[in-house]
Amino acid sequence: MKKIISALFICVALIVGVSYAQVLKHQTITPTVHALIGEIGGRTYQNHGLNANFGFIDTKDGVILIDSGASYQGAQLIDQEIQKIAKKKVKWVINTGSQDHRWLGNDYFSSQGAQIIALSRTVKTQQSLAIAQMDSLRPALKERLDKTKPTHAKEALMKDDHELTLGGVVVQLKYLDHAHFAGDIVVYLPGDNILFSGDHIYIDRILGVLPQSDASRWLQAFSKIEAMKPKVIIPGHGSVTNMTKAKQDTGDYLNFLVSGCKKYADEMAGVEAAVKNLAKAPAFERLANFNDLHLGNVSRTYLKLESQ
Ligand SMILES: [Zn+2]
Repeated sequence: MKKIISALFICVALIVGVSYAQVLKHQTITPTVHALIGEIGGRTYQNHGLNANFGFIDTKDGVILIDSGASYQGAQLIDQEIQKIAKKKVKWVINTGSQDHRWLGNDYFSSQGAQIIALSRTVKTQQSLAIAQMDSLRPALKERLDKTKPTHAKEALMKDDHELTLGGVVVQLKYLDHAHFAGDIVVYLPGDNILFSGDHIYIDRILGVLPQSDASRWLQAFSKIEAMKPKVIIPGHGSVTNMTKAKQDTGDYLNFLVSGCKKYADEMAGVEAAVKNLAKAPAFERLANFNDLHLGNVSRTYLKLESQ
């Protein structure tokens, strides 16, 4: 009987271990800077809506976390992963944006005593989207969304550029332009030349131009990142990368969308013409989710350009 119980225990541990390993993969960037890499597909019950990347910096005074996950329970998973490595409390949480996985775990970390840090323009977008994001997460996450309470930075930062020293580490928060969502920022570590790009950069998968995105301004934000010349980029989605690969998977695709659609928008050719003529994008068909997102990306890029 004892043998059966211990065999069962091992089985359960393996299953839990496997499903957990699929949620976030840890990657050491430097002895103190770490990435937690999520899946590149959609939000599912199994991945807790953590289909994105997160990062943390292990400082002498506590951990700085970049983005808090899509739910209270997802935030607990992020914290468990951090505790395996840093074994220190998360003291600061920086939100790079307002898509669900960037901030809906704030309440968990705030209940653990962490300070939430965000720009006021980011908080404004979070506030305007909170109800809709909770509603759209519920069908996928079910009871795994329980306990999630949209929570924002108490004192949002008013300027677009901030340099903070947290636990002796210099951290820059930079708003570049209206990209994936209004108010998205990047977090830059000048000491290590490492960039947490948030949803400005997608690697291995096609990016999503959503109704609230602005592809032209996103492309401008991307050029500002290029000018920063970061050595290592922890992207919003996909593998840890460098500027060359970021250009191939994100910058060049944004350029394809914007310059391609601009031609049709200038001629007022109509969205159907733009979608028909830009449906094939051989350089980007290798990227995951291409078939699901590309045509919608073209159509939303076109409509935005036509309305400007
Ligand atoms: Zn995202």
